[in-house]
Amino acid sequence: MPTLRFHAIKESLAYKPVRVEEKERRSDLFGKNVFNENTMRQYLTKDAFKGVTNAIQYGKKIDRSIADQVASSMKDWALSKGVTHYTHWFQPLTGSTAEKHDAFFETIGDGMAIEKFGGSQLVQQEPDASSFPSGGIRNTFEARGYTAWDPTSPAFIYGTTLCIPTIFVAYTGEALDYKTPLLRALHAVDDAATAICKYFDKNVKKVSSSLGWEQEYFLIDKMLAASRPDISLTGRTLLGHSPAKGQQLDDHYFGSIPNRALNFMRELETECMLLGIPVKTRHNEVAPNQFELAPIYEEANLAVDHNSLLMDIMGRVAARHNFKVLLHEKPFEGINGSGKHNNWSLSTDTGVNLLGPGKTPMSNLQFLTFFINTIKAVHEHEALLRAAIASASNDHRLGANEAPPAIISVFIGEQLTKVLEELEGVTKGKLSPQEKTELKLNVVGKIPDVLLDNTDRNRTSPFAFTGNKFEFRAVGSTANCGNPMTILNTIVAKQLKDFKIEVDKLIDKKDLKKDEAIFNVLREYIKSTKSILFEGNGYGKAWEEEAKKRGLSNNKTTPEALKAKVSKQTIALFEEMNVMSRIETEARYEIEVEAYIMHIQIESRVLGDIARNHIVPTAVKYQNILIENVRGLKEIFDKKFNSVSKEQINLIEEISSHIEGINVNVTKMINERKKANAFEDIEKKALAYCNQVKPLFDDVRYHCDKLELLVDDEIWPLTKYRELLFTR
Ligand code: ADP
Ligand code: MG
Repeated sequence: MPTLRFHAIKESLAYKPVRVEEKERRSDLFGKNVFNENTMRQYLTKDAFKGVTNAIQYGKKIDRSIADQVASSMKDWALSKGVTHYTHWFQPLTGSTAEKHDAFFETIGDGMAIEKFGGSQLVQQEPDASSFPSGGIRNTFEARGYTAWDPTSPAFIYGTTLCIPTIFVAYTGEALDYKTPLLRALHAVDDAATAICKYFDKNVKKVSSSLGWEQEYFLIDKMLAASRPDISLTGRTLLGHSPAKGQQLDDHYFGSIPNRALNFMRELETECMLLGIPVKTRHNEVAPNQFELAPIYEEANLAVDHNSLLMDIMGRVAARHNFKVLLHEKPFEGINGSGKHNNWSLSTDTGVNLLGPGKTPMSNLQFLTFFINTIKAVHEHEALLRAAIASASNDHRLGANEAPPAIISVFIGEQLTKVLEELEGVTKGKLSPQEKTELKLNVVGKIPDVLLDNTDRNRTSPFAFTGNKFEFRAVGSTANCGNPMTILNTIVAKQLKDFKIEVDKLIDKKDLKKDEAIFNVLREYIKSTKSILFEGNGYGKAWEEEAKKRGLSNNKTTPEALKAKVSKQTIALFEEMNVMSRIETEARYEIEVEAYIMHIQIESRVLGDIARNHIVPTAVKYQNILIENVRGLKEIFDKKFNSVSKEQINLIEEISSHIEGINVNVTKMINERKKANAFEDIEKKALAYCNQVKPLFDDVRYHCDKLELLVDDEIWPLTKYRELLFTR
């Protein structure tokens, strides 16, 4: 009897849920472990407080004496909460978060010791960068790197450690993390958007980008997950026959949350509250054991940090509830995958959401300006936006027959489509007073009402306008949102910058009034961006053909999609917007291509191992039982032997053919891996892994899954889909 599977099932059935008590109100818990504005007011001198808030709001430098004061106050606050260590917390390009803990404790001679934390330790640290991905930057320059304090994301306490959010850069200044380019992109979009806002309101001094992510995940019993080598090593199942009941009945979506999962969520949410992560909604998703968690949106840099932190905490809290969290985009074949919708908008320091309609025609013209410029930005850079969400694991959603598709398009709804149609008819050049009035009253003026019934939400669109924000739905559930947010904010910044140049030119050269000039430029944008707008069902053959005619890219695999990250256009874009230098852009590309190769390589090895060393021996064992049975039948039957043993003999043959199928394909896969590994060029290697190695997964899996249906359940070694998905 395969002990691990049955042991795991037994344990999981005997499991008693952990009791979770919520004694305090959430609003009281909120931000308790964060060195936030409230805490700073309490602990900092007036000068230090002002220094930090200026840095947060306007990017002003913090001088050394202020940093010393802040460090010392942070330490006092942390010590008062039983903290012993501090760490610079950062997000290297491995995709997870990194930290190296140092104690506050220091000896001062004569057998005495104190707790110490100065400005220099707060501001900068030098972790050894050589074990983090650097994409060649390391070779070109030096192995050393440093982390530097990001005052715009507040320090927090996790466990007994004070965590200080930092950027991570090479000694020569190149970014080695997700945060550095994100901060630069946010700066770029702030500059460009603030300049546009001044057309409408001179008081605007700053525009921030906001992000509200929706994190989907699966919760699987820890023992059951541990019994599967594929889940343990790759985060997904590489084989397994679909269960008789899957998600056909849709009885999980928004259903009552099972108790054990609910207890996990409550504890997770309490942790989030303490860390100032404003989580608000939780619900069941479409697939069995699939759930979603979403916060109230925040400033994008903070939201990205919070999502990275959340993904880390989820795993730790899950362990206490005997769960394993699967963040993978496609843990189970034939079952819905997981994504992470990125809800995005821009808002001013005067409190206006630039993607929400306003009360006056002028504020609605401002809304239209940002709305249409965003569409234009996506139109110009659709391939790059696709590249922003490319990964080996997200390919299972985007390239496959599941919404959203690999083709980027924008959904805006019927009503706004009509508004754009009206605006397209605006006269070229100067507008007559009648036309202006007509526009203000009947087009621009009506937008708030239009948006109120913007209910026809298209769930399959990868980039949809949903009332007062755009929702980038193609982001993968494992992704660090920093990557797509850097790209989205950069392309919008570039677009707004170009828009301003065009409008100003019309004002100066053609002597148009400001709003006339804006209408004129927007009209041209509407005309030239039609190919990106799509209201239909976002996947399937018909749309693929249509998209091809429109000239939209349809890169189904990561190696193909990633190329847009190093196109001439992209390199120039990042350089112009001061988001990444050519070296940084190219290094990142190399890191992502290499990550892709490694993912497929690991999956291929794990699959080969399971198929040959778990499945084949089990099949042989079962075949031997059948052979023994046939021998016995031969002994006791004479004439009737052929008819009574017919099915057994068929089974024996069928098993042999699947064993052959496995062995032949695993051998092929190993050979293809060898060939792929021989490529020096990483692009060629990635393509070989993608097009030669990966397709063999399906062939190996096919025979394994067939055997699962043939072999006696009692001796099947791998925990089955039904056990993984329906154990509560
Ligand atoms: P759904 O998409 O499931 O219908 P909601 O529309 O309520 O859900 O919002 C989903 C997410 O969008 C939430 O995280 C919410 O905070 C976020 N969100 C709402 N308004 C904005 C905004 N202006 N900018 C960014 N995110 C927003
Ligand atoms: Mg959503």
